[in-house]
Amino acid sequence: MSSSHRSAHKISQPSPWKDLPAVITCPECGKKSLRRVRKDYRTPDGAVIEDLERFQCSSCLANFFDDAAMQVLEECERKKKSLKSLVAGKQQRDAGIVRHGV
Ligand SMILES: [Zn+2]
Repeated sequence: MSSSHRSAHKISQPSPWKDLPAVITCPECGKKSLRRVRKDYRTPDGAVIEDLERFQCSSCLANFFDDAAMQVLEECERKKKSLKSLVAGKQQRDAGIVRHGV
């Protein structure tokens, strides 16, 4: 690993997950293998968010996000949307208009 890239700003919001034990039971598969991780996260759309702190089950690989992580995800989603509308422009807008049958 030669990556020394770090985000300049610190996230200091209190996390509701903080009081939880290091390893908790995964709601997805029921195994006690859900733990806090901090690594790159690839969204289902293929976007990569660097160093996203979240919970990941080492058994079924399900991801769980706290409020701070959700905010990052939503921000990414917003950025992507504005980028998309810039690229797709008019076409995208036209496709978004759905006529309801009268
Ligand atoms: Zn699991």
